[in-house]
Amino acid sequence: MLSDSFERQIDYLRISITDRCNYRCLYCMPANGIEPKPRHQLLSYEETLTIVELFVKLGLSRFRITGGEPLIRKGLVELIGAISQIKGVADLALTTNGTLLARYARALKGAGLKRINISLDSLNPQKYYEITRGGNIHEVLAGIDAALDLGFSPIKLNTVVIRGINDDELIDFVRFASAKPLEIRFIEFMPLGKEGIWSPEKFIPGKEIRARITREIPINPITDTRIKGGGPAEYYQIKGSPGTIGFITSLTENICQRCNRVRLTADGYLRTCLLADREYDVKALIREGASEEEILSFIRDAIRQKPQGRCFNLDQPQISRSPMSAIGG
Ligand code: SAM
Ligand code: SF4
Repeated sequence: MLSDSFERQIDYLRISITDRCNYRCLYCMPANGIEPKPRHQLLSYEETLTIVELFVKLGLSRFRITGGEPLIRKGLVELIGAISQIKGVADLALTTNGTLLARYARALKGAGLKRINISLDSLNPQKYYEITRGGNIHEVLAGIDAALDLGFSPIKLNTVVIRGINDDELIDFVRFASAKPLEIRFIEFMPLGKEGIWSPEKFIPGKEIRARITREIPINPITDTRIKGGGPAEYYQIKGSPGTIGFITSLTENICQRCNRVRLTADGYLRTCLLADREYDVKALIREGASEEEILSFIRDAIRQKPQGRCFNLDQPQISRSPMSAIGG
């Protein structure tokens, strides 16, 4: 098992395979998008596979593919197939905006994908269009249905809650998710990216989100670790329904002490904390022809330096250098 210097076991790598996206969500990208990195600066799939194999050697068993929008990069199904064949990979998941999911869900399932998280920030077609700057909610709903029909489980919906934008839909989201076997997760809006729209006025703490829901819908905390999983969300059971609600309170609660993950950016840097800008250039080592032992030792050292946490202080907001699309949310 790989541990950092605060005795946290690291067993989970999130891999961004592209910094490009077919959306420009208000909270993630500027309206004109971000200048995408030239292809040669991104990790090739072969390099990504090499890095996954190295992480498996270090004891990691859980991987997630994300972006940007991963489904717009050609060959994703083959990459998923190759990662799922690596001995030692116990869990392989995907985070997507869902637009292309109806088209690829079957092939992804056949390739060995286990779990899917789908981002959905409004159930109102016009508002969804505005938040995503051009998205069509019907494509996403078709993607969710395709994933349900194919038996992916769990299917999690990720909703970033922003005051004055979608906080009037909390109850609608819970009702939507509890009518189907879906888990809805409400995420605190994080101040990532210099050109984002984050401000203290738009931020809603998880506690307030939870209180506004419990005023109308009774929920009970889930203590069963099999349902809770190893992630940052706190889960609640909706009374009288199989549905669950998760709250990801990265800013208001100290979830850092149970952080089990690191990230690989699309251009091949290891990022040991979402909210800390320090990154480690694994791609350069691979391209310089470093030996396996040199790269393993570089990764071990980087993980030893993983910050203890509380990299962001709500009283002194600091906007991170990179938006989520470039980091791999
Ligand atoms: N394009 C895919 C999608 O939207 O699911 C995958 C990449 S996206 C960067 C991954 C997750 O990051 C999404 O669930 C998105 O809502 C979340 N995210 C992006 N910017 C965020 C922010 N500033 N605060 C909180 N979550 C954010
Ligand atoms: Fe694209 Fe996902 Fe960022 Fe929206 S949240 S702009 S879909 S990467």
